[in-house]
Amino acid sequence: MRVPLVYDEESKLVDLNTDELLEALSAIARLKKHFRVMDPSAALAEVARFVRGEQQLVPCIGGSKYFYIDWNLDVWRCEAWPEPMGSVFDLDRLPDQRQPCNDCMMGCYRHASILMHGAVAVTDSVYALGKGQLRAAVGLLFQRSVAYSVWALSVEELPRAALISFARRTGQRRSTPQAE
Ligand code: SF4
Repeated sequence: MRVPLVYDEESKLVDLNTDELLEALSAIARLKKHFRVMDPSAALAEVARFVRGEQQLVPCIGGSKYFYIDWNLDVWRCEAWPEPMGSVFDLDRLPDQRQPCNDCMMGCYRHASILMHGAVAVTDSVYALGKGQLRAAVGLLFQRSVAYSVWALSVEELPRAALISFARRTGQRRSTPQAE
């Protein structure tokens, strides 16, 4: 199991038991009602499931659409992974490391996982369709995790505003007559 630690395991600064951690997560969720907190609610719920030892709804996107590149320009699935995938100059030959992983709750990966999961499923579904794999294409879209990801996007202020703005711009472009 990969367990990245930002702080030393023995640190007195971060020394919370399960109940304290769950209460801290609830407090962050409550704060969202008063001012902008960037942690998506759905991601906070995933962290709480992780703390309680429950199953995650969305697998980590690390190694799929999200990577870590170090100073030597080596590409890693994430910084907690035990070995790099290869050099950034060998992108065409990097091994596929998209097997589901839920070993940690590193925010930059896991929050993005929640928000990007639906879009990734749509992309994978289109690729499957292109290969004539209709059943797989439909199966990729009709997953509980995809519905969860779409819901996560719809309830967050910034993604929702971006989606509405995109829809408006697209609508305006369609209704504006093209110059002859
Ligand atoms: S959950 Fe994601 S960030 Fe954590 S070890 Fe697995 S791939 Fe890396």
